[in-house]
Formats: sequence, structure tokens, C-alpha cells
Amino acid sequence: MIPSNYLSAKSRLDEFIEYGLKDYSKQRNFDNGPENRSNVSCLSPYIKRRILHEREVITSCLKIYNFQLIEKFIQEVFWRTYWKGWLESRPEVWKDYIDNLNTLKKDLNGSNIEKDYEKAVNSRTGIECFDFWSNELTKTGYLHNHSRMWFASIWIFTLNLPWELGADFFYKNLLDADAASNTLSWRWVSGLHTKDKVYLAREENIEKFSKFRFKDKQTLAKRYKTKEYKFYEYSECSFSNEKFDNIDYYLINQNNLIYDESLLKKFEKSKFLYLNLLQYSENSKIKQDFESSAVKEYINWLKENKIEVKVINNDDELNSLVNGSELLTAYPSIGYEKDKLSELKKKKKLISNIFTIHMIYYVGHMLNQVSLSLKTK
Ligand SMILES: Cc1cc2nc3c(=O)[nH]c(=O)nc-3n(C[C@H](O)[C@H](O)[C@H](O)COP(=O)(O)OP(=O)(O)OC[C@H]3O[C@@H](n4cnc5c(N)ncnc54)[C@H](O)[C@@H]3O)c2cc1C
Repeated sequence: MIPSNYLSAKSRLDEFIEYGLKDYSKQRNFDNGPENRSNVSCLSPYIKRRILHEREVITSCLKIYNFQLIEKFIQEVFWRTYWKGWLESRPEVWKDYIDNLNTLKKDLNGSNIEKDYEKAVNSRTGIECFDFWSNELTKTGYLHNHSRMWFASIWIFTLNLPWELGADFFYKNLLDADAASNTLSWRWVSGLHTKDKVYLAREENIEKFSKFRFKDKQTLAKRYKTKEYKFYEYSECSFSNEKFDNIDYYLINQNNLIYDESLLKKFEKSKFLYLNLLQYSENSKIKQDFESSAVKEYINWLKENKIEVKVINNDDELNSLVNGSELLTAYPSIGYEKDKLSELKKKKKLISNIFTIHMIYYVGHMLNQVSLSLKTK
């Protein structure tokens, strides 16, 4: 299992800065295979949980290289932030995805796509590269970005499977599974993000950028049927960054394992709790192990900083403990964790006040720091 604490994340970042960052823009599109990932950072499982904060990633890179040289890498880090903001201002996209997914899963058994679906998720389609990636994903919890694009394209256009089931297969297995990046990237490939624009994987492109690792010649779909496009209206997000000081309880959630002593100071009067907000029961073993180890490591770090954390096992335990008090948690963003938080908020008579601090506070801080360091170059 890949280590899940801050020090390992930091050492991966340092290694990438030393060996991969300089040539990132030229090399990033090549998937050299699982044994050779030095051309990309592999930091996504850490960034997703904020074990490594975007601010730290970017400022560390800018200490060594100037902006022009590493602009592409910085852009990629901000893609994640962009997708998150896009989904926040169109929450219906997540709701529709979950509704469609639930219907598809309910109807899957005995349906005419069941066989093809089973072949795809068990690496038995006969398409050599696709089966390789399907196996790599379930065994390692990671796929290179280009392979994610090819995989999604083949899933949708060659195998004719519903994109929602593919996004769910990724969500189950990716260590970096993120509601925004994952759902929106799958929508983008299938042509639902930008009207009339799909991503069609081409054989020559796969050959070149996977360094001719696959022997079989495959015929992939050259045409596609456009899916019904639905426009989602932009709605402004209103984050009040509610109450901040002297809060009774601070609830840690798995999307915000932020290793920052200054954050601890803000909550020095609060009692720390942890509750697993991810109400999604299908995570792969490797993903579950990584997630629980990441939480454990974070709780240990808090202990080293003299903060005891009470691990809460279910809603009732949380309700009876927090009853009548105020509880604050870092905003987890649209996704399963936020759905769970909304469910808890609805149980108002038991937990009277749940507040969230929005990560914009951190992102704002990050932008500030980045622009400051750019000005100094
Ligand atoms: C179909 C599909 C599904 C995806 N699902 C996810 C997901 O669930 N979670 C996720 O974090 N990324 C997802 N991505 C984006 C991207 O593939 C991964 O972030 C990237 O491959 C992670 O590897 P890395 O850390 O080595 O990336 P690097 O190339 O080293 O990039 C550095 C960081 O920038 C961010 N980043 C890079 N590319 C993207 C991108 N296209 N979109 C958003 N952020 C990006 C990540 O945080 C990444 O760690 C998906 C892409 C596709 C095409």
C-alpha cells in the first residue's frame, strides 16, 4: 500500500520536483506504464484529501523553478479546483448523476448490458489496452490521466456502456476519487460538458503515448451518437463562512486532513471528533485501506500536537454527544460526504448547529500566496 501520511506525501512532492517537474509539460502525456511514473507527480490521492495542500504544492515548486517553466503543472493543479467550482455552481449535475446511477445499478442485473459491463470491470473485453488499464486500476488504485481519457472513451463509444457506470467504477477504485474531477471528466469525454464535443480515443494516439506497449491492433469506435445535451444553469454559490471562533466541536472529515498547525490554533478551545462521512459502501479494499490509514495517520499527528480525537462510529453517537452544542467542519465540497453532512443537518432537533468553513478560505489564501511569490520572481 502506498503510504498515506504527510511526510510520505512531502517526500513524493520533493522527488517529483527534483526529477519530473522540469520536463512535465513535454512528458506528462506519456503513460510509460505502472513501473515508471516519474513524468507525473502521482500526488492526487494526497491532494484530494488535502494531506498536501494545493498551496504547498505550488509554492514548493515555485521555490525551485520559475513560473514560465512550470506553468503547465500549475494549470493542472488548478484544473481540480476549477472542476470543484464548476460543480459547486451547478449542484443539479451531481444530483442527476446520482439519480441516473441508482436507476442503472438497480436495472443492471439481467439487463442486456450486464455481460459487457462485467467484462469491462473484470478486464475481459479482449481489447488489450483497455483490459490492462481496468486491471491496473483495480490493482493499484491509480491510472495515468491519458489512460483515464482513453478508458472512458472506449467504455462509452466502443463498448457502448453508460458513462455513469464507468464513473462509478472509477470512483470505487481510484485512490484520488473525487466527485467533481471524476464526474465532470466522464461527462466531458461523453460530450455532455461541451455541446457537440466528445473525446474519441484514437489507436495511433494510444500507441504513441503508451510507448507502443500494447501489441494487439484494436479497432475503436470512429463514430458516435450524440447524447442528449442538458444545459445546467450557473447559480452563484453563497458561502457565508459561518461561525469560526469558540466552537464546541470540530469535526474532522476525510476530505480535509489538513496538516497545518495554524489551523489547530484556531480550534484550540474545541473538542476534536472524527466521523466517516463517506456514505458509499462499494469502495475497493485498496481504497478503503488507504483512506483509513490516512485518517489514522492524521489522528496520530494531532495526538503529537496534544490534541485528542474522539472517533465517532455513527450518527446516533454524534447526536448524543453534540446534543445542543455547536459543531464545525471544513466544507467537504459537493459529493457523497456533503450529502451525508446535509442529512445530518436535517436532523436538527438532535444536533442543533452544524457549521461549515468553506475551503475558499484556504484557496483564497493559496491564490494570495501564489501571486505573492510570482511577484517576487
Ligand atoms: C475520466 C477521468 C476521471 C478522472 N477522475 C479523477 C478523480 O476522481 N480525481 C482526481 O483527482 N482526478 C481525476 N482525473 C484527473 C486526472 O486524471 C488526475 O488528477 C491525474 O491523473 C492524477 O495523477 P497525478 O497526480 O500524477 O497528476 P499530475 O499530472 O501530476 O497533476 C498534478 C495534480 O493536478 C491535478 N490534476 C491533474 N490533471 C487533472 C485533471 N485533468 N483534472 C483535475 N485535476 C487534475 C491533480 O490534483 C494532480 O494530482 C480524472 C480524469 C479523467 C479523464
